[in-house]
Amino acid sequence: MSLTGKTAIITGSNSGIGLGVARELAKAGANVVLNSFTDRDEDHALAEEISKETGTKARYIQADMSKGDECRALIEQSGACDILVNNAGIQHVAPIDQFPVDKWDAIIAINMNSAFHTTAAALPMMRQAGWGRVVNIASAHGLTASPFKAAYVAAKHGVVGMTKTVALETAQEPITCNAVCPGYVLTPLVEAQIPDTMKEYNMSREDVIKNVMLQRQPSKEFATVEQLGGTVQFLCSDAAAQITGTTISVDGGWTAL
Ligand code: NAD
Repeated sequence: MSLTGKTAIITGSNSGIGLGVARELAKAGANVVLNSFTDRDEDHALAEEISKETGTKARYIQADMSKGDECRALIEQSGACDILVNNAGIQHVAPIDQFPVDKWDAIIAINMNSAFHTTAAALPMMRQAGWGRVVNIASAHGLTASPFKAAYVAAKHGVVGMTKTVALETAQEPITCNAVCPGYVLTPLVEAQIPDTMKEYNMSREDVIKNVMLQRQPSKEFATVEQLGGTVQFLCSDAAAQITGTTISVDGGWTAL
């Protein structure tokens, strides 16, 4: 389906999955709004590059997704929001009795609360436009748990719950809300977990990748940002108009175990 003329806002999209999703949606014709908390030349350059490559309008808007007012301001400043992809996320790995309170608060704010604020601000625009898609990038950890990831697992389960509620509140409108649950995707977020996990398990990098990360991913392959972008694009298509309030796993079989 062509997304020409649609505006897609992707939170946390100057890297990793968010950037991959933005590229795929722009290729399908959407005008994408990239976002992160930084305001560097390279952030704006990413938007220019996407515009050049796809002939669509891409913009970068700085907003810190740990702050509710900035989440809402991102949506307002974009001027339109047909597709909202709540993707911004961070991770911290520690046993719960040693979990730093500031990390807990930041993970809950960025990975879960931001989706509340952006969705609340975006739904009136979608209603006015008569069409809308909310896609929350949750995780296999929105459906299952792992040790040392209490805040992340709590936030992602929260996002999956919120997805169902938003779907029910919009069920009789041309708006859908779904969650995509990736397994491991090799992005900067995952790369950053490798040193801590090496220490935690006293393992080499290769062993962490094979025996810890991909241990639960039966395909033994990382998912790619392009595959995640394609999944989001499908959820924006007419074929997915009756898909709402559900989760789509892109996890190489992890949650089938
Ligand atoms: P990443 O670190 O490459 O991307 C995270 C993005 O969030 C970056 O663009 C970063 O700038 C942005 N971000 C962080 N804090 C922010 C803030 N305060 N305000 C605005 N933006 C902020 O990581 P990723 O792997 O691409 O993760 C993207 C999403 O996918 C996250 O929600 C993550 O939980 C989820 N996810 C990732 C994997 C994986 O294996 N990579 C698996 C399951 C779910």
